[in-house]
Amino acid sequence: MNICVTGGAGFIGSHLVDRLIHDGHTVLVIDNLSSGNKEFVNPKAQFIEMDIRDSNLSSIICEFKPEYIFHEAAQTEVSVSMNNPKLDCDVNLMGLINVLNAAVTCGVKKLLMPSSAAIYGDLDTLPLDESMVGIPTSCYGLTKLTTEHYLRIYHEAFGLNYICYRYSNVYGPRQGNGGEGGVISTFAKAIANGLPITVYGDGDQTRDFIYVDDVVEANILGLENNVTGIYNISTNIASSINSIINEFKCISNSKIDVSYACERIGDIRHSRLDNKKAQQDFSFKTTFNLRDGLYKTYEYFKANK
Ligand code: UDP
Repeated sequence: MNICVTGGAGFIGSHLVDRLIHDGHTVLVIDNLSSGNKEFVNPKAQFIEMDIRDSNLSSIICEFKPEYIFHEAAQTEVSVSMNNPKLDCDVNLMGLINVLNAAVTCGVKKLLMPSSAAIYGDLDTLPLDESMVGIPTSCYGLTKLTTEHYLRIYHEAFGLNYICYRYSNVYGPRQGNGGEGGVISTFAKAIANGLPITVYGDGDQTRDFIYVDDVVEANILGLENNVTGIYNISTNIASSINSIINEFKCISNSKIDVSYACERIGDIRHSRLDNKKAQQDFSFKTTFNLRDGLYKTYEYFKANK
């Protein structure tokens, strides 16, 4: 099938493109390389360097005649969204509308894209499930929550089928290329380079870490199954930052220089997402345990110092 992937040079997008190519699809990648890397783009994919806000986007996509669009291009950093809410809104909402209009114009079967656990804000009833009403605490969380409503409205008004995935904390190779990345890739990169790491807070805060290949699998299942709507994609397992460091000590077989600093402003203490809906509706399950995922991530950063 012809499949268009915006943001296909980015962290999750490039892994998804690799899988789609592996599965025999013809893939068009559209990416402005603002945080993506051309080297991450599978050489068997067609590549067009373009911003999702470009007025030519719809004609470029329609010319390719995609059956599906994965919209992975986004401003993904909470800190950027707080320092520059206008940029965040421009990319994540004006860009989104451009992509949605293209999807409707081309008559794609479905549009699939990420939302984020950030839409839940600081709700403390864990695990978080899709029925809970989130109150985002960042501009990024707000643009993602608004994204979900745009998708619902485009579905109801224009018949656009969609899946929107609320990912927990995704990690893996290639993360953090054009920006912060998450704690695991930050640590893996530092440890692979023999550099110290900093823990913000006491390290007992927990997150629900999911390996990027499991997230890709969720996207493939969303493509193959006749489902529309919003889904948490997660492990539903809580791991503390201190436990991640202990795992890295074993994996790297080295002493790690750890210092503890003040908690980051706006950080939440615990986050974990229920994934029952995805299990029930399209048999989603994770295959990577934390140790395997951390090992693969560490090996990647060691090989790409
Ligand atoms: N964190 C840390 N050291 C770092 C980066 C992050 O201790 O170098 C902590 C951070 O303060 C937070 C947790 O790790 O409590 C997860 O941070 P991340 O930015 O990966 O995800 P988020 O907070 O957005 O869920």
